[in-house]
Formats: sequence, structure tokens, C-alpha cells
Amino acid sequence: MLFFIITTGMCNLNCKYCGGSFPEKYVPYRIKYELNRLRDFIEQDKDAVIAFYGGEPLLNYQFIKNVMDKVEAKKFVIQTNGLLYEKLSMDYWQKFDAVLLSIDGRREVTDYYRGMGVYNKVIKAALWLRKNDYRGDLIARMTASERTDIYKDVVHLLNLKIFDHIHWQLDVGWSDLWKNFDNWCEYNYKPGLRALVKLWIEDLKNESVLGIVPFLGIIKRLLYNGPKPPCGAGIESFTVLPNGKILACPIAYNVKWAIVGDLENNSPSNIKKVEIGGFCNNCKYFEICGGRCLYVNREGLWRDKIKKVCDVTIFTINLIKENIKYIKNFEKVIYPNFNNSTEIIP
Ligand code: SF4
Ligand code: SF4
Repeated sequence: MLFFIITTGMCNLNCKYCGGSFPEKYVPYRIKYELNRLRDFIEQDKDAVIAFYGGEPLLNYQFIKNVMDKVEAKKFVIQTNGLLYEKLSMDYWQKFDAVLLSIDGRREVTDYYRGMGVYNKVIKAALWLRKNDYRGDLIARMTASERTDIYKDVVHLLNLKIFDHIHWQLDVGWSDLWKNFDNWCEYNYKPGLRALVKLWIEDLKNESVLGIVPFLGIIKRLLYNGPKPPCGAGIESFTVLPNGKILACPIAYNVKWAIVGDLENNSPSNIKKVEIGGFCNNCKYFEICGGRCLYVNREGLWRDKIKKVCDVTIFTINLIKENIKYIKNFEKVIYPNFNNSTEIIP
């Protein structure tokens, strides 16, 4: 199972589509449970993947070190904005199987949404990891919003040749930043995806694989299916809050349905499961899309516009389906090889 460990609800940025720190009364800024309790819980799962998450997880770097020193897990992952990368020595960074650095693509897009100067700081962190021979999977994790040009921003990150993989999530569901989501989808996102798939297939024909996570992940689901939702939330991915409560999804901090247990009273085998439901059950893309996002599905977010999100999801799946015939060597494109917290469907 994948366990997100929220080390603090606090964040050192205040990104436009997110709003910064969680409210402290829901996601405390300090750990309230004993480390032994977490260790006893996690170590009951021999396949545990620990993903440090926040807020900004590195604000509580000492706790990260304690967990990595004392808790046995099969894999370690971190999702970070990278600004505090120097708080961990390279010994710790080398223990991460995947590092997800938040960056939205080109400098102007990243700095607009995340704050002036953030692009340079994230690139500095990524270059530092590379310079120090970080051996794990370095993933650029984008949020795609109205100023994103998906083709330009993904190609920009690919061309830097710093990251192994690029993943993005659409800023849909809780953000009300959009002026014209429809236009963006029709005149930017869909044409951009088409161009990106073309580029990806051209490279595949030359036996090279561009690490574009949604494309790779959809191929994997087309071949082998996968959890519903693809991120595994509520089924094989759970979140431990700093107060020891266990949630189905790291974002769902203030809704009752998402509280599925706590460190004191549960073991990984008896956490309550939460399933995708509603309109997804009758969708013929359910096996591949997996319902996309448990939180959006359960909360009924973007009720009037959710069909438009489904429309771009189906568009993306069909693009990959149309091009699967060009893939000769599937072994090279199967990704991820464990749930590394990339959600697959943008
Ligand atoms: S495309 Fe929409 S309706 Fe279909 S499974 Fe995905 S989220 Fe559910
Ligand atoms: S994709 Fe949705 S359900 Fe999955 S972790 Fe993200 S917000 Fe939660």
C-alpha cells in the first residue's frame, strides 16, 4: 500500500490554485503521535510505500529523517516544492525511490502560479540532485491551469533533460480560477495533447521513451487495468495526518467520508475502504479512467462542468488507444512500476 505521511499542514508557498497551508485545526503543523506507533502500523505491510507530503513536507525535515531512520518501508517517495532541499543530506535523498518536484513548466507559468523566483529555486534543487548523482526517479509535477500551454510546458521540462518523468494534474474540481475552461480545452489542451502524443510516438519509433507519465500510465492501464481511482485513494493508498487520523485521500482533510481509521485503532488490513461510485459506474471508460479522482467523485465537485473534465479524459485515452499500434516494445513503456503517487489520469 501507499501511505502518504503528512509531516505538517504548513506550507512555505501560497500557490494561486491551492492557497497554501491547510487549516491547522484539521491538519496540525506538528506531529501528535509517537513515531513507534507509526512504525508498528506501517511495518505490518511488507509492501509499504511511504510518500512524504504536506503542506510542505521538508518544513518538518527532522521527522522525515526519523521516519527514514526507524521505519522499514519498501520504497520512499517525497512530493515537495524543493525550496528546502538542503535540509536533507544526500544520504537521505538517495534513499528516495521517487522525488516529485512541483514545477508548472516554463518560468513565467511557474512563477505566475507559485510565486516569483520559484522556478529558479526548483531548478536549482533539481540540478543539485543531479549533480550529486541522485539515482531515483526525478519527476516534475505540474499543475495545469489556464496559463498552461500543455505542449510548450511539457516540452520545456523535457528539454531541460533534468527530469526522468513529467506528470501533470488538471486544476479542476476545487479551483475557481478559470475564466474559460471550455476554450482552453478546445484551443490549447486538446491540440497540445495531440502534438505531444505525436512527438512521443516519433520518439518511440526511434526506440526512445519520453517520460510523459499520463501517456505511460494509460498504456499500463490499457494493458493491465489498475486501481480505481488510478491514484489508489481509498483502496490501496491512504494518508496519515499529523494527528494520527487516517484518510482515504490526502486532500480530503475536512470531510467525514474520508476518515477511514486512525493509528491507534487500525492496522493496514482493516482500514475502511472507500470506492468510486455514481456516474462513473455506467461509463464505458471506467476501467481505464478509473473514475479519475475519488475526492472529486465523492464530493460532486464541478457538478455542472465535470462532464467537460470527463470529455478531456476520454480524449486523452482515445489518443493513446489510437497510437498503441506503434508501440513495439511494451516493456520499455510500462510505468510506474509501483504506486509512486503520480495519479496517472491528469
Ligand atoms: S470519464 Fe468521467 S464518468 Fe468516465 S470513469 Fe472517468 S470520471 Fe468517471
Ligand atoms: S487524484 Fe483525487 S483522490 Fe487521488 S489523491 Fe488526488 S485528490 Fe485524492
